[in-house]
Amino acid sequence: MARFSPSVAKLISELGKLPGVGPKSAQRLAFHILAMPQDEVKSLSEALMEAKTTTRLCSVCQNFTDTDPCPICSDPKRDKSTICVVENPRDVSTMERMRDYNGLYHVLHGVYSPLNNVGLDEIKIRELIERLRENPETKEVILATNQTAEGEATAMYLGRLIKPSGIKVTRIASGLPMGSDLEYADDVTLSKAMQARREF
Ligand SMILES: [Zn+2]
Repeated sequence: MARFSPSVAKLISELGKLPGVGPKSAQRLAFHILAMPQDEVKSLSEALMEAKTTTRLCSVCQNFTDTDPCPICSDPKRDKSTICVVENPRDVSTMERMRDYNGLYHVLHGVYSPLNNVGLDEIKIRELIERLRENPETKEVILATNQTAEGEATAMYLGRLIKPSGIKVTRIASGLPMGSDLEYADDVTLSKAMQARREF
């Protein structure tokens, strides 16, 4: 990295830690930032810090939020009898974009993936089980983890864990291409996968 001054090398290295940003993209972003007007760089860095300091996890659904409980959990118009379990906060945005789901969510923040050193304790499973225990009005839990090997294994584990409580457990239909992420599904496909969900 001797080609760059220490401060530029540091910026490239930090940007390169972001997902999907390879060394070339990190360099391109760094030089783009250096060419930006001072006030734009300032508002970018302020937006990063502000998002990080004001955002926390909703104590109910574990999604990112500025207020606790989050706007979805505290909306009286949402159907509190249904909880849709997703892998990450992006999936909540995808589901909300579809506009025909009116229940609540639970964000796991990952999937069970022993190969990547993600154990069952590292995702928000305990929080989900406690939540179900404290909210007897829950009638259905929809498992909407991605249709990847890890997503399937996590759904299977959750299904086995929740079923004995008598709550209906469903899995979104496999209308989505195998191995695909929820966030890449178009609204119609996702909507069909939700409607055709099957009891576990
Ligand atoms: Zn919430």
